[in-house]
Amino acid sequence: MNLMAYRDQALFADLRQRMVPRIEAKAETLGRKLRLMEVCGTHTVSFAKTGVKQSLAESVELISGPGCPVCVTDQTDIDQMIAYARLPGTIIATFGDMMKVPGSTTSLYKERAAGADVRVVYSPTQALAIARANPERRVIFLGVGFETTAPSVALSIRQAKREGLTNYLVYSAHKLTPPALQALVEDPAHQLDGFLLPGHVSVIIGRQGWHLLESLNQPAVIGGFEPVDLLVSVYRIVQEMERSERSVINGYPRIVQEEGNRVAQALLAEVFTIADTPWRGFGALPASGLAIAPAYQAFDAKAALAVEPPPTRLSKGCRCGEVVKGKESPLQCALFGKACTPENPLGPCMVSTEGACSIYFAFAGGTA
Ligand code: SF4
Repeated sequence: MNLMAYRDQALFADLRQRMVPRIEAKAETLGRKLRLMEVCGTHTVSFAKTGVKQSLAESVELISGPGCPVCVTDQTDIDQMIAYARLPGTIIATFGDMMKVPGSTTSLYKERAAGADVRVVYSPTQALAIARANPERRVIFLGVGFETTAPSVALSIRQAKREGLTNYLVYSAHKLTPPALQALVEDPAHQLDGFLLPGHVSVIIGRQGWHLLESLNQPAVIGGFEPVDLLVSVYRIVQEMERSERSVINGYPRIVQEEGNRVAQALLAEVFTIADTPWRGFGALPASGLAIAPAYQAFDAKAALAVEPPPTRLSKGCRCGEVVKGKESPLQCALFGKACTPENPLGPCMVSTEGACSIYFAFAGGTA
């Protein structure tokens, strides 16, 4: 379905006529398709549903990256979160897409069916309200997300401290995006020609926040989500490929500032501290996550509660760890669309609406 307004359609048609031949010429010079990673799941969806992916199909292979927060959350974290749900007197507050993520032996969804108090919330503010309303019980909010989600969680922790709440805890599994892309660039087995960087993350960290990628001299463009944004971003990545000294290009300046959101950055620096963090598929990446800072330790579920999760076990045959690194397409997983579907997900990539497997399943019957 084409979702573009008439004016945008005309602009897109014009740009397509001018840009696609030049993108195709670049692919012809290389003797293969360009391998471009769209880091964020929202870009994966936008490419598929707007038809831009199909417009570029002859010359560009779009590779989904580690931009789905639920998908990159390590199995050890998932198991620990589920173990908290079993603690007496505990309410788990979580975003909905965590519910069906399979842990090693069970899921939050199954634990709720078995009697655990697991509540879906749309923001940490709601979790805080649950804590206020239930002073005799402990409320644990599951903090899963990137630089975009972490500020609202930080705000909830600061607010809990101001109010003197003693029953609000956060399990922080927050991740920082640039270190994961650095790991991909430094992986000799990975041959990526460039990156389409997530617009939402860039709103927080700014163009400056990608200095790591810039120092690695990678063709990279921060992109928006409209069809014109997508096409122009790909074109600009190709332009950067031609240069020997590359800058990270801000292709989304109507939203993304050079320095990012300073208020959000200050809040993150106050409430969190940067920590080595395990990622699904990657293992532990240095300085890639946000742990709760010592000044707010009273709200840190990891520090306050010891649980014993079961030994880690991944669903047999699930390739999610390779999918989040862009090493394999969901279509290469033998379980895709057969044993593993959105109704019966065997890995997180099929659970979240930002997960590559669920997006591939949703569009064109799994051939997106
Ligand atoms: Fe894992 Fe399912 Fe994706 Fe296969 S299709 S990689 S089993 S989530």
